Amino acid sequence: MIGTSGDWCKDRCGPKVSDKLKMLKRLGYDLPTPPPDTDLLEWAEKCIADSTAKLTPQIEKQQHRKAELAKQRAELIELAKEMELPGPVRQAKNLGKHILEIWNYRKKTGRKYVSDEWRQQRIEICRACPKLRFKHDKIYCGLCGCGIEKGVFVFEGKTMYEAMRCELGYWDELDRENGKISVGRNVR
Ligand code: SF4
Repeated sequence: MIGTSGDWCKDRCGPKVSDKLKMLKRLGYDLPTPPPDTDLLEWAEKCIADSTAKLTPQIEKQQHRKAELAKQRAELIELAKEMELPGPVRQAKNLGKHILEIWNYRKKTGRKYVSDEWRQQRIEICRACPKLRFKHDKIYCGLCGCGIEKGVFVFEGKTMYEAMRCELGYWDELDRENGKISVGRNVR
C-alpha cells in the first residue's frame, strides 16, 4: 500500500510515489497521480482499464508498428494461401481425369490438338485469370493444378488439347467460336 502524503509510501519502505510513477512511465504508461492511500498496482490497472493511463508516444509508436507488422503478416499469409496450387494428390487425380477426357474426346471426334492460334488465345485468357499460378518458371491453372503451356509426362499442357475446358468456363466462348464439339461435359 502506498500513500501520497509527503510523496512517500506509508511505511517509507520503497521509492517515492513520484519515482514509481516515473518507473511506470519508462515502461510505457503515463499515469495520473494516485489519490492518497491507493494501491499503486490497482490504480495502474484501473487507469489502464478506463484509459486514463496514456501510453507514452514511444510505446504508442511501438504498438502501432507491432499492429502494422501483424497486419502485413496476416496479408502475406493470405497471399501465400492464394498462391498455392492444389496438393499433389489432387493434382495427380486431375491429371488422370484430363488424360481420360482427352482420350474419350479423340475416340468420339477423331480430334486431339487445337490450332496454334486457338491455343495462344486460350493462354491469353489464362494470363488474365486470377487463378493463374507461377511455379518454377511454369504457369499453372490454380484450380486443377495442371500446366497451362507445358505439362508433365504425356500431358503437354492444358491449353493444347481440344477436349480440355476451363473449369470457370472462361474458354467456352472461344472454344465454341473455334468449332469445338460438345462431348459430355467438355463444353457448356
Ligand atoms: S483454365 Fe480457366 S481457371 Fe484455369 S487459369 Fe485458365 S482461365 Fe483460369
